[in-house]
Amino acid sequence: MVEKDIQILLVEDEPSLLAGLLLNLQLEGYKVTAAPNGQLALSQLKKQKFDLIILDLMLPDLNGMEILTKIREKGNFTPVLILSAMDEVETKVEGLTLGADDYMTKPFELKELYARVHAILRRHNGDIRVISFGDVKVFTEERRVEKNGKTVHLTPLEYDLLVFFIKNPNRAFSREAILDNNWPPGSDATVRTVDNFIVTLRKKVDDHRRPRHFITVRGLGYRFTS
Ligand code: CA
Repeated sequence: MVEKDIQILLVEDEPSLLAGLLLNLQLEGYKVTAAPNGQLALSQLKKQKFDLIILDLMLPDLNGMEILTKIREKGNFTPVLILSAMDEVETKVEGLTLGADDYMTKPFELKELYARVHAILRRHNGDIRVISFGDVKVFTEERRVEKNGKTVHLTPLEYDLLVFFIKNPNRAFSREAILDNNWPPGSDATVRTVDNFIVTLRKKVDDHRRPRHFITVRGLGYRFTS
């Protein structure tokens, strides 16, 4: 089922749930690191790159929302699945707004958790072969893009930037964060460069005059919506 070593950080303070989830996710083939509190979660995140964070909200030290805020502020866009007993709509909306990729309430069925984990990883790891939005199709294996059935020529960096946005839909990124996540450290690129690339992507795969996919977030940067 699992193709490569997928690293999951499991943040959960309830010992029996932590142990059960750890075992079950390992049986599914994932490499799992357990963090029973917020500080340990943050220190693990400094040490290692994860493919997914499963995040409880009510923890003994930090609240899960604070952890999520901290890691996103640091420009870490590791996918986050919130797993919480808090089932109020407002809490779900808050979590998703802060940058969680999904929200599941406890109690839950393992099967559903697996399905959601797979869905998040699929979106992020780009092993979907064809991604489409509007009249655009992205063939990830060939790194080829079509609009209205016609191939659109993108430079490698334009293509990578497009895929970066597709993998992080509806998330508002500052221009600095876009820069940090897509340009190598020490490059000459500035936030102006980011603006120029967005202009180009709009011309090539969106509508330059009335953008529907690359949306300007006033005072911040951009967000992509399919
Ligand atoms: Ca808890």
